[in-house]
Amino acid sequence: MAQLSDDCFAFGGALLGVDAALALIEARIAPVVGEEVATLSDAAGRILARDVVAGIDVPPHANSAVDGFALAHADLLPDRETILPVTGRAAAGHPLDRPAARGEAIRIFTGAPMPEGTDTVMMQEDCVFEEGGVEAGRVRLQPGIRQGANRRHAGEDVAAGSIALPAGRRLKPADLGLAAALGNATIAVFRPLRAALLSTGDEVCEPGTPLTPGMIYDANRVMLAALLRAQGCIVSDLGIHPDRAASLTDTLAAAAAGHDLIVTSGGVSTGEEDHVRTAIEQLGRLDFWRLAIKPGRPVALGQLKGTPLIGLPGNPVAAALTFAILARPLILRLAGATIAAPLTVSVQSGFAYRKKPGRREYLRARLAREDGAVTAHKYPKDGAGILSSIVQSDGFVVLDEGMSELAVGGMVDFLPFSEVFGS
Ligand code: AMP
Ligand code: MG
Repeated sequence: MAQLSDDCFAFGGALLGVDAALALIEARIAPVVGEEVATLSDAAGRILARDVVAGIDVPPHANSAVDGFALAHADLLPDRETILPVTGRAAAGHPLDRPAARGEAIRIFTGAPMPEGTDTVMMQEDCVFEEGGVEAGRVRLQPGIRQGANRRHAGEDVAAGSIALPAGRRLKPADLGLAAALGNATIAVFRPLRAALLSTGDEVCEPGTPLTPGMIYDANRVMLAALLRAQGCIVSDLGIHPDRAASLTDTLAAAAAGHDLIVTSGGVSTGEEDHVRTAIEQLGRLDFWRLAIKPGRPVALGQLKGTPLIGLPGNPVAAALTFAILARPLILRLAGATIAAPLTVSVQSGFAYRKKPGRREYLRARLAREDGAVTAHKYPKDGAGILSSIVQSDGFVVLDEGMSELAVGGMVDFLPFSEVFGS
């Protein structure tokens, strides 16, 4: 594939912007998954491989939205009460077995097909039944109802022939309900991505083992595994890898063979012990490794024999953020999903802030409703290692490259965690 002009950023001093990195992912990464058929009950969270086209109308027949009396609107007197005989019954699953004649009221229940010849349903609460009981007697109907009231049209939810669910969606519970309403028992989905995950660092050790001097527990791996699974990946846990270049290269080469994606954390900076980038360069191609993003500047994207590798920073907040902003769209693209930019909402800032122009910053913040306005409050500590800042926050305040100063009360873009950390 042709090299993009952005490539100079991968090796030079300048930092690649977030949008340019996303464009590069879009240009260089293609879906890798074939399709398979899943039962609807197994399809929650999977990516839809083909459009679901409606084979029937939903609802399949016009039906009543309430319990009451179906009638022809033209039989109602416009300015005073009308009295009609109740001459038949239609319940859900039990249609009237004949057309209704003019001048008849049909006792009807929610979901029952509208009898032919009727166009309007009066709610039973608005009617008065006369002697002889509800079904054998007469009903008194007040004027004023509009024609077509309380009638659901055939196909008003989905019309036969239309696309009910477009390919590339991650299937949500209501999507499965709609597919079922159309009569589907199975659905075409993409095979899940197989992701290999490892942590790097001589100081990083396994939770549950004793902590020796100078060591820290691996916070990233369990967090990233959960994030990968929330995006639908099947995760191979390759554990913690020491800062040793040769064996890291061997491990990554082996992982590339059996996976669609490799995710690492740590070891992508410029330090002597940062071997992930070197391994990418030895085994394949480095697309970028330094971004104009805070937190998380060192984050590497490369391809090892055709398998993408995203090397996330070691600091846990930076790892989580770069997962949200870069690994997630990478995963969606590989998995055949449609990528929509996560939805940010405009909220009021409850804090003042200065930043360096030229990079995009993501501040952890919680939301509160104050005097009717939704206000973002920044977590007091900024460090890229302060994982509590994510635990205690609701999302990121996004400060664009061009911004340098934020005042209390100014409007800011807020990216809820649910947009990028959930499924
Ligand atoms: P690195 O990106 O390898 O230079 O690491 C940056 C910082 O993140 C260092 O303070 C590391 O100790 C820390 N770190 C690296 N990996 C992990 C991990 N898996 N869990 C928690 N902290 C980590
Ligand atoms: Mg390290």
